[in-house]
Amino acid sequence: MSTWSIGNVSVTRIEEMLGYGSFPPAQYFVGFEREVLERHLGWLVPHHYAPEKDAIITSVHSWLIRTPRHTILLDCCAGNHKERTYWPRFHQLNTPFLERLAAAGARPQDIDIVLCTHLHADHIGWNTVLRDGRWVPTFPNAKYLFSRKENDFWDPRVNVAGADDPGRRIAYRDSVLPVVEAGQAQLVDGIHAIDDMLRVEPAPGHTPGHVLLKLEAGGAAGVFCGDVIHHPIQVYAPHWNSQFCELADEARATRRGLLEHCAERGALLFPAHFGAPHVAAIEATGAGFTARFVAGSGHTAR
Ligand SMILES: [Zn+2]
Repeated sequence: MSTWSIGNVSVTRIEEMLGYGSFPPAQYFVGFEREVLERHLGWLVPHHYAPEKDAIITSVHSWLIRTPRHTILLDCCAGNHKERTYWPRFHQLNTPFLERLAAAGARPQDIDIVLCTHLHADHIGWNTVLRDGRWVPTFPNAKYLFSRKENDFWDPRVNVAGADDPGRRIAYRDSVLPVVEAGQAQLVDGIHAIDDMLRVEPAPGHTPGHVLLKLEAGGAAGVFCGDVIHHPIQVYAPHWNSQFCELADEARATRRGLLEHCAERGALLFPAHFGAPHVAAIEATGAGFTARFVAGSGHTAR
């Protein structure tokens, strides 16, 4: 388990899974250029790309953020026992995610804020657990922050156009609706300051209501960007979207804006799916950007 420090705030990665993505890069990335991948093989192998399988390596993890005031879980992975026949990688999982969270020193009742950057199935799963045949909020004392725009996009009762989409219907019903019905959801609009260190900002493109979290502490900064960027090769090719990005032009513009912010502010980038060591500092170059990986303490290369 790895931990990073931003001023007096600690950030710990809680892993759900790490392995081959579901699609080869030419299928995964829209606008993929093989020569860009080949130019960067020297650092992509072995933690970000497996050439023998032509597979990108992706992590699914949450960020546990502990400030003097709050214990926050950012993004909630895919969760256990969820019916995800449309997405086999996440179907009926049984991982020791909560045990890993406990090993990091946080019990479910210790989490006071959950923030989902967006409502795809790999970011909402641990919002709920199955108890006596019912989905109930995993974190009994937490306020769950969702973007209102995002919630309205995925709620099949609001956005009836997508109501037949199995991902929309099933994942929302088992992982978001129980939180809303328990009265633990807080829908946020636009820029939302949690306190003077933490700010939720709109980051549309991957999904319409996607948000990111900016952290400022003791002169240092971090950005928890969800799926604004999926894989470190996109630092060098920010014009590549993933095939799951809903709004192509906005996704590209938001990604570029994120990289510019990180480079100008010196903010560490905490994405949702980068392989080890999972966190990067971004620098601007004449032509674009470069990534410098930053290992957390306790990190062991595998
Ligand atoms: Zn994701």
